[in-house]
Amino acid sequence: RWVPQPKYYHGGLKDQDRIFTNVYRDGDPYIQGALKRGDWHRTKDILTMGQDWIIDEIKKSGLRGRGGAGFPSGLKYLIHAKSQSRWKAFLFGTCKDREILRHDPHKLVEGALCVGFAMRARAAYIYCRGEFWVEANALQQAVDEAYKKGFLGKNACGSGYDFDVYVHSGAGAYICGEETGLIESLEGKPGKPRLKPPFPANAGLWGCPTTFQFVATILRRGANWFASFGRPNNRGTKLFCISGHVNNPCTVEEEMSIPLKELIERHCGGVRGGWDNLKCIIPGGSSVPMLPKETCETVLMDFDALRDVRSGLGTAAVIVIDKSTDIIDAILRLSKFYKHESCGQCTPCREGTSWLVDLLERMKVGNADFAEIDQLEELTYQIEGHTICALGDAAAWPVQGLIRTYREEIEERIEDYHAKHPVKARQLRS
Ligand code: SF4
Repeated sequence: RWVPQPKYYHGGLKDQDRIFTNVYRDGDPYIQGALKRGDWHRTKDILTMGQDWIIDEIKKSGLRGRGGAGFPSGLKYLIHAKSQSRWKAFLFGTCKDREILRHDPHKLVEGALCVGFAMRARAAYIYCRGEFWVEANALQQAVDEAYKKGFLGKNACGSGYDFDVYVHSGAGAYICGEETGLIESLEGKPGKPRLKPPFPANAGLWGCPTTFQFVATILRRGANWFASFGRPNNRGTKLFCISGHVNNPCTVEEEMSIPLKELIERHCGGVRGGWDNLKCIIPGGSSVPMLPKETCETVLMDFDALRDVRSGLGTAAVIVIDKSTDIIDAILRLSKFYKHESCGQCTPCREGTSWLVDLLERMKVGNADFAEIDQLEELTYQIEGHTICALGDAAAWPVQGLIRTYREEIEERIEDYHAKHPVKARQLRS
């Protein structure tokens, strides 16, 4: 039996320590259920503590961005508080977000009020990805209920502060998850990212923290409570969405720095066919490099530990891949996705993602020259860091992970093909 590493891991979250308890049970997602769960409890008292107190508490709690980059949330709120903007935009679009939207939408609405207040904003736009139609409706219902109860609008929660929340659905473009792409989309333009600087917060336009659903609970229960989970620099709890070849794919809230193996064994019933059947795991959504099985044995699920093994926590969307998977084909599938979602503004992204797909399609069957593996790797470095937004990096990193981890497998595939097709192999070499 797998024994958890004791140093940073406290044995798994208890129910009373979970922020999103309703995500795990059937229950009323709307106002009556929310009030029973403690949402909107003494929100006025939180607001009357003042903007600086809220920002200080969030800084003390160690909360970091949940969208991938892990930027300290308190600092981000402070930057936005100093900007001229009185309108803020929040983004909702990953699979774990969907669970919150469906089962706990009042957490978002109350969080939007607290964070918007701390940033001295007057209104918030919550942007849902276009595919989340049902979820956007659930959120809209929660917003309507909050208005009816006097939690939003003029004199929100009786605090003397006016605050409005608008729900906006996108049209299904992945790239609208990028901060400036989202702004363009909200302004009614095609959702194409803009060059930075100017940064949205500084330019007095909008901003999109991904942490606001945590905030009301942290303020109510205290920064020290939240900071007691995880390890230094990686504090608090996080929603993990585990999919792929596990016995029970699920979304679960756990403490930061939980060992990856423990997360899978405890909540997903293990890998399909047993741990020995594991090939690799992508720990943070499709844009981060995969981890080979040996690394998955010991790695902790937090920002620093995953960076140390040349991967990333990303959005904590864990994809488990077993030995039955053709790993080149799997990464090809991701490359096709990024090619499709590229908005086409930057040459390295627009052309580079097409090249990635072309090369990987040939490597999948082995119809390539050995030298092309290095060319493929070089191509990823030409894309990475040379584009307006992070989609270019996101397309490059999984391919880098593939070559780093499975170069031998690619070479074997090429060898087999050359053995079966000697004439084509000669042509490739020439
Ligand atoms: Fe568009 Fe790709 Fe450039 Fe992002 S990196 S702006 S998606 S072309």
